[in-house]
Amino acid sequence: MKILYVAAEVSPLVKVGGLADVAGSLPQAIQRLGHDIRVVMPGYGRIDRDKYGIQPLVGPFRIPFQKGEEEITISHTKMNGGVPLYLVENQKFFGRENVYGYEDDGLRFALFGLAVIRMLEKIDFQPEVINCNDWHLALIVNLVNKLPEEEQAYQRVATVFTIHNLAYQGIFDPSVVSSVGLDESDLLELEKEREGKINFMARGISFSDVVSTVSEEYAKEIQSKEYGAGLEELLADKRDRLFGILNGVDYQVFNPQTDPHIALNYDLHSLDNKGANKKALQRECGFEAGTDIPLMGMISRLTDQKGLDILVEAIKAVLELGVQFVVLGTGDFRYQDLLTHLAKEFPHNMKAFIKFDAALAQRIYAGCDMFVMPSRFEPCGLGQLISMAYGTIPIVRRTGGLADTVKDFDPRTGTGTGFVFQNYNAMHLLVAIVRALEHFRDEGTWRSLMERAMSCDFSWDSSAHKYEEIYKLAIELRKKGH
Ligand code: ADP
Repeated sequence: MKILYVAAEVSPLVKVGGLADVAGSLPQAIQRLGHDIRVVMPGYGRIDRDKYGIQPLVGPFRIPFQKGEEEITISHTKMNGGVPLYLVENQKFFGRENVYGYEDDGLRFALFGLAVIRMLEKIDFQPEVINCNDWHLALIVNLVNKLPEEEQAYQRVATVFTIHNLAYQGIFDPSVVSSVGLDESDLLELEKEREGKINFMARGISFSDVVSTVSEEYAKEIQSKEYGAGLEELLADKRDRLFGILNGVDYQVFNPQTDPHIALNYDLHSLDNKGANKKALQRECGFEAGTDIPLMGMISRLTDQKGLDILVEAIKAVLELGVQFVVLGTGDFRYQDLLTHLAKEFPHNMKAFIKFDAALAQRIYAGCDMFVMPSRFEPCGLGQLISMAYGTIPIVRRTGGLADTVKDFDPRTGTGTGFVFQNYNAMHLLVAIVRALEHFRDEGTWRSLMERAMSCDFSWDSSAHKYEEIYKLAIELRKKGH
């Protein structure tokens, strides 16, 4: 199959969250299955063009946008593993430092979507299926279906729309869609009911041939009012074409045996070496170094989604027990301040790194005993998967991808890979942490828990086969003109 994979962030070029990890590694796994897959993303200002060998390919050419035209250049390179990567360059809209967070994000991603379609007329690659990720790329799906002058060329392109996080929907004024030539009065029922605002995510779901999301549990959850963020009915209507496919981990990057960022490499058979990483991390945090002091970590965007409110409520009691806790993250100022404040209050056993730092993240995954992820909702979650690869035991809430990937430890049967709690409140989180601390004291129990966690295989291979199936299904449905 010829597949075009479109994402707003792609690791290692630009990473904000898990989407970049997926876009950096899933295409490689699909290529290994023998398909011609290519990736396209915006050419942000912060991308190091020399480091990644990025060269101009086509253009500049002009495309109609808003009431005038915009100039686009396509650059390209090869990703790790050889997957071709295209960058859509436009200084005014993409040449900025950050990926998201601008007032005109709607326009920026509308332009990107249109440019991707126009790019296909200029390069020697005609995809049979386009996989668009999250709200940013929803207008591609919309354009493939609706743009009259493009119908001839694109009516046969099948579309898969993948939801990584339903909480971010891309809601804008109708002028955003007219900027790329769509009729702004042609609204979805749901948009009409909501003051005529455009909802990118809803359009991606409505117009695509197949919808996917990043875990089976989340695929079920988002059809309910509690998790559907107002799109539950739309999703339930599409349930025959809605699939949950778990994200994988790129074990070439996240592998304690080869990780160049950690103090001492280790694997399942040299678990004692993990202790050196723990001590190094304890020193880096300014904590007392000792392998029998429990060390807990968290690496996360600091937002409500990630359970920061219950964590902040529960953590004081844990710190008072003498447990060491290190957090790495950026996000809401409120949480940044709360965590910084806690670190001042508990200088001997609490450390807050308020920054984005991939190498430090790997030192934390390797050095900690436990990894906390008390998410309110979690489409898939990578933190728990990465921590398991490093033998660091996850403490998670039973939701979405966390429910699918972490099995609660049962001391009677000696099964399970982490500590799981159900109800979203500080007390239940605390109970799970205390349970983990109790078992941590028993070296034999803890070691077998680590071994089970490290033996889990969340590589991309089985998920890549499932993507292959939904691509085939989308092509079939498109052919039938469903
Ligand atoms: P989300 O995509 O919702 O942010 P995921 O768990 O799917 O959450 O993926 C988050 C990814 O980003 C993980 O690889 C995690 O290690 C990484 N990450 C999050 N915050 C930071 C940070 N401050 N520094 C380095 N890596 C981070």
